[in-house]
Amino acid sequence: MQEERAPDFSIGDNITRVRERIRAACERRGRDPAEVTLIAVSKLKPFDDIREACAMGVTHFGENYVQELTRKMEENAGLAAPLPIAWHMIGHLQKNKVKYLIGRTALIHSVDTAALAEQIEKEAAKKNETVRILLEVNIAREESKWGFDPAEVPRAAEAVNALPHIRLCGLMTSAPLTDNPESNRGYFRSLKELAGELAERKLLRLRESGFQSPVLSMGMTGDFETAVEEGATMIRVGTAVFGKRDDQNGGTGT
Ligand SMILES: *Cc1c(COP(=O)(O)O)cnc(C)c1O
Repeated sequence: MQEERAPDFSIGDNITRVRERIRAACERRGRDPAEVTLIAVSKLKPFDDIREACAMGVTHFGENYVQELTRKMEENAGLAAPLPIAWHMIGHLQKNKVKYLIGRTALIHSVDTAALAEQIEKEAAKKNETVRILLEVNIAREESKWGFDPAEVPRAAEAVNALPHIRLCGLMTSAPLTDNPESNRGYFRSLKELAGELAERKLLRLRESGFQSPVLSMGMTGDFETAVEEGATMIRVGTAVFGKRDDQNGGTGT
């Protein structure tokens, strides 16, 4: 894939700017920026772009499509010195693709049905692996979006807790696309409250998964500062890091 880049486009500079914005959002709320993990969303971008981001010290990458993700994993594994990448599956996951991910992802963010969780359990048991997951919540109850209705989340979390090869670590959401991130603030607050409820009911497996607090995966290019202000521990940023994609208006169409 050939990319057309404006002369002043630089993934390195983009990352510097995103980090500065994370730091400023943290400062507004007295948060430690180390509590916020930047996941660079590299879907539809070439592996060379991932290398550039890695050179800036980014180690967490998010992908939406299983085939593209595993192709990039293999490209990395084939390097003389593979990059130290933690891969995050953030896109809708079909049950028949689950087997390709077991033992290979840091976290699956997009568990959106009980049946998908059961499939992950089945494949993980076969390989004697445990899999860290988040439940995806359709926080604004948008018709077009995947995810559990917020009211279903506690029961789904209980069901997932009965699955011995799954470690539920928190919640993920994609808030509505908007030009005004302020309008998503209430949704981010609701997700945090919901995760707090699960933690209180001991439905999250945090310490054994290496997390200090419930994982809140929320905030994208359009609204990540608001999400950080409201407690995001992982933000998933694509466009602000890698530039526009071919799935967006203004993509290069290659
Ligand atoms: C594409 C995508 C992102 C990144 O979106 P940007 O607006 O480019 O930052 C984050 N999360 C999910 C689930 C995505 O599909």
